Amino acid sequence: MTYPTLKLHIDGEWLSAGKRRTHKVINPATGDTLGELPLADAADLDQALAAADKGFRVWRKASAEERGAVLAGAARLLRERADTIARNATLEEGKTLAETKMELMGCAGLFEFYAAEAKRLYGRVLVRPAGMRSLVVREPVGPVAAFAPWNFPIHNPGRKLGAPLATGCSVILKPAEEAPASAMAVVQALLDAGLPPGVCQLVFGVPDEVSRHLLASPIIRKLSFTGSTVVGKHLLKLAADTMKRTTMELGGHAPVIVFDDCNLEKTVETLALAKLRNAGQVCVSPTRFYVQEGVHDRFVKAYSERVARAKVGDGLQEGVNMGPMANPRRPDAIEGFIADAVKHGAKVRTGGERIGNKGYFFQPTVITDAPSTARIMNEEPFGPVVATAPFKTFDEVVEQANRLPFGLAGYAFTENGRTANLISDALEVGMVGLNTTAMAAPDSPFGGVKESGHGSEDGPEGLDACLVTKSIHQV
Ligand code: NAD
Repeated sequence: MTYPTLKLHIDGEWLSAGKRRTHKVINPATGDTLGELPLADAADLDQALAAADKGFRVWRKASAEERGAVLAGAARLLRERADTIARNATLEEGKTLAETKMELMGCAGLFEFYAAEAKRLYGRVLVRPAGMRSLVVREPVGPVAAFAPWNFPIHNPGRKLGAPLATGCSVILKPAEEAPASAMAVVQALLDAGLPPGVCQLVFGVPDEVSRHLLASPIIRKLSFTGSTVVGKHLLKLAADTMKRTTMELGGHAPVIVFDDCNLEKTVETLALAKLRNAGQVCVSPTRFYVQEGVHDRFVKAYSERVARAKVGDGLQEGVNMGPMANPRRPDAIEGFIADAVKHGAKVRTGGERIGNKGYFFQPTVITDAPSTARIMNEEPFGPVVATAPFKTFDEVVEQANRLPFGLAGYAFTENGRTANLISDALEVGMVGLNTTAMAAPDSPFGGVKESGHGSEDGPEGLDACLVTKSIHQV
């Protein structure tokens, strides 16, 4: 099994570097170069736009069964090719092989869900006098420019493609330059399952060049972005000039509320596993832990001991619980968060250091007594670190949880049903986990509120975001 030669895909053709600029793709566990990624130039992007325009005209006419067959076929191929695809995803992103395999299954599951759901894009017939007809129909929005980040190298591209393709849109997908082979594998599965040329282009490039070029074009009718709130705001402004539809999946800073009456053992285990996942580089990763006074000390002790036991190493190695961070920016950022918290009077209970001098490994870290003025209590850390703070009352913790401009995921741990109801109503977020951190599923909308973005991916709501409404009236 080898890492593939990296290419762009435009109008049914795989294009290798040739005279194009290139970008080195690095294995974050070793620092070794995996491959040279061709970067699209302006001519490539113009060609991709023309192809997406043409591809949309073809694909919008395809029946729901044809679209569904391609998505279901791609899901089958992804499952058949799981070993190779997951290994390459671990090589380029760092997370463990068990995680990349699970991620691949999530992507296949989403394609299967949309293969079936494509047949249920119903419209309405309005009540009118005899002889009159008024219909409400839903049509694909048009060519989509989609930007996916590196943290889920298989599933993020899958999310950017599943709903648009199910509804009859064409797509120009720009995944992150850090993890291109995984995105190539997803696109290849769709092509092998019969996706016509021009319906899906895959480009890599200098992100700002690509997004400015694509979003300036009237051919693109929708922007779909997953990434940081800062970049999301920049892209929203670019999309405004041509009034494009938008789906924005942006950063979060998930509050975790641990009540005195939680099941301590289960809570510790659930949160430790969620935090170790992808070294904390997950938009719904639990990050701000508010722990009620009665259980605070016992929780912090048990949680710190649990994450300190995790085996950190190359994600390809057997028995590893957490891989490296995906790129050198992340350990630098985490060190900055920790130093700032300590300056504000917080304590490092466990971890706090890089591991080794090769790759981007960092210890699972717990910071206690973090004041609300510390940067880590205000900005998403995106790494294997949590900050804890004690609380007394329900009202006080709700105020803390909702204090930030973000609202993606929020979690609460309690064995009291009434507390669970009240806290799920009170949290200003798009997704609530009660005694669980597992929330993503093909049939369930995934998305945030406030500055965490708008619009949902997954579920029927993901299809709604790719459709426009037309009313037709006839006498
Ligand atoms: P970043 O803000 O530079 O980039 C985030 C993503 O946006 C990357 O995939 C990048 O390729 C892309 N991007 C950046 N500038 C772009 C542009 N002008 N046009 C199009 N795409 C562009 O940050 P980073 O260092 O790569 O990641 C760290 C931060 O990003 C984290 O703090 C986290 O908040 C956020 N992030 C969020 C998610 C998520 O799932 N919501 C995923 C990855 C990263």
